Amino acid sequence: MNIDQYNLKNKRVIVRVDFNVPLNDKFEITDDTRIKAAIPTVKKILSAGGSVILMSHLGRPKDGPTDKYSLRHLLPDLERKLEMKVLFANDCIGTEAQQKAAALQPGQVLLLENLRFYKEEEKGDESFAKKLALLADVYVNDAFGTAHRAHASTAIIARFFPGASLFGYLMQDEVSNLEKVTKKPVRPLTAVLGGAKVSGKIEIINNLIDKVDNLIIGGGMMFTFIKAMGGKVGNSLVEDELIPTALAALEKAKEKGVKLYIPTDAVIADSFSNEANQKVVEANQIPDGWMGLDIGPETVKDFTEVILNSHSILWNGPMGVFEFDNFSQGTRDIALAIAKATSSGTFSLVGGGDSVAAVNKYDLADKVSYVSTGGGAMLEYIEGKELPGVKAIIEGV
Ligand code: AMP
Repeated sequence: MNIDQYNLKNKRVIVRVDFNVPLNDKFEITDDTRIKAAIPTVKKILSAGGSVILMSHLGRPKDGPTDKYSLRHLLPDLERKLEMKVLFANDCIGTEAQQKAAALQPGQVLLLENLRFYKEEEKGDESFAKKLALLADVYVNDAFGTAHRAHASTAIIARFFPGASLFGYLMQDEVSNLEKVTKKPVRPLTAVLGGAKVSGKIEIINNLIDKVDNLIIGGGMMFTFIKAMGGKVGNSLVEDELIPTALAALEKAKEKGVKLYIPTDAVIADSFSNEANQKVVEANQIPDGWMGLDIGPETVKDFTEVILNSHSILWNGPMGVFEFDNFSQGTRDIALAIAKATSSGTFSLVGGGDSVAAVNKYDLADKVSYVSTGGGAMLEYIEGKELPGVKAIIEGV
């Protein structure tokens, strides 16, 4: 259930947002994306006649309240964005928070102090969740970035709002877009996976083989696959202990009729540096002393063709060391191919830290269908795991 499907008139609505924004040493926000993302939900609740109590964590405070991690620093920016005065409670639970919450009038907003000033938050402590719940009539979760954690404010609190736990717009958007690639996608569905290592992506690879038609592998992890298939990878990034895992994935793909695409050529370097000497060779013939830092032009051509023939695409992880401009061509070309497919009607979802950085670097964020801001939560979702924050709303547990 989301906030459009519940009568919020005269209700006090406690909203878990993700205001974990970066601050500089003057406590100014250096990237306000997360605050911006929460505004539509807040405005909707206010316009529906409710009042809003905002709660979030900020940073990783270790020993209780610390000014450095106070959410008070966010007030000026929040007031500017909402074009209204925002009240503040110096503690997220207790007398002051209760009094300020009780006095809230429809149309007003109260921001609570950092949830992580209490260790109980991350422990998922039920009595702490209950104290937060005491402040409101309705619970909304709009913090997709922490949906993979069973913390007090992201999941446990929902127990105290039977029939009144709702998704905010951001959460709803993330989940419904992810479902477009994980449940009933328009086929063919292609997953483009890159990034450094196989080890961080085993569960993703295994889960995606059950779902996709095509699986494209690039980035550093391609070399473990190439070595597993008997290729020579020189000094490229390889995880020898994962060769059996790579072979198992190749076998599973074959059994399931999934087409697995591994690069046929690579841009190699004689050191791990943007200024290294470079050349293009067959991806399974990399000489000793050289390492693969990007996919080659023939591979780009093959992958592009697969991408342009897909109706749904999920992209996670760069194709090479795209932070080095001289080894970024493969990542850029694949990002452009995904944008091109999108322009002719393909649904494309990009997510996971570095692929989001890549679409931003090439100014393509608005040329793909959806950019997930979920990070870890998004990766766990595509690993096939149930997210406690999502489950809590759907099942009320
Ligand atoms: P991940 O966090 O696993 O998605 O990995 C992203 C990182 O993988 C980026 O910082 C890339 O520089 C790195 N990467 C991509 N391709 C390679 C490669 N061929 N060798 C080493 N690192 C790579």
